[in-house]
Amino acid sequence: MRTPFIVGNWKMNLTLHEVEEFLDAVKGNLPDPKEVECAIAASSIYMDVLTRFCKEETNLKTAAQNCFYKDSGAYTGEVSPMALADMGVNYVMLGHSERRKYFGETNKMINKKVKAVLANNMVPIICCDETMAKRKTYDEMNWVVNPVIEALKGISEDDAKKIVIGYEPSWAIGTGKSASGAEVQEACFLIRETLKDLYGDDIANQIRIVYGGSVNARNVSEIMSQDDVDGVLPGKSSLKAKEFIKIVNYQN
Ligand code: PEP
Repeated sequence: MRTPFIVGNWKMNLTLHEVEEFLDAVKGNLPDPKEVECAIAASSIYMDVLTRFCKEETNLKTAAQNCFYKDSGAYTGEVSPMALADMGVNYVMLGHSERRKYFGETNKMINKKVKAVLANNMVPIICCDETMAKRKTYDEMNWVVNPVIEALKGISEDDAKKIVIGYEPSWAIGTGKSASGAEVQEACFLIRETLKDLYGDDIANQIRIVYGGSVNARNVSEIMSQDDVDGVLPGKSSLKAKEFIKIVNYQN
């Protein structure tokens, strides 16, 4: 059984005061982690506040939005995976489409980061970008398969089981227009088939695949009802505590 996983991506938003207000509002309003596991992916500057909060409110996990592939050294401006782990961070999002588009991240670089995150005992959330142009080619390899294969190069079966894959079509991100349940299922099925080719059915069936792209309190249930979808990754809708609470409680 794959526990549903919902991770809000705050991106580069919110002030410290707004972060504190959000955390106050979600306290006591998050589901039992055995039913739905919830996390917030915050900017690194808020990681300390978030990890401290999560030590008390254990129904919430922490995620970083990115990190570097080296633990320390002369890499000005980068975020160390070792330091994140030391703070108690649970997950690290890697390869978000905004990282690929604005910061030139490649599958090769993401593969190095996946290894660094795992080496520090955190769990990578590997985001696989997909543009409408790629989808329209009906070329499955070019579509969502290659980013998965390349990000997982050299990753053992034991590590693969823990990983979360994010299916994140850029044409749905920040547009207010989510992919339909059927479109999400089609891509997530293809990702799971790719995982089966790489690791066999047993392991592929343990790996969680989440969808991101204009998820909100109204469309979450339809998306979550798809067979190969194990969670969602709301961006804009995770900025307001009221809406995030509704999304994570989609089963009620
Ligand atoms: C995202 O940031 O990954 C995302 C899916 O954003 P939004 O929900 O705003 O489309």
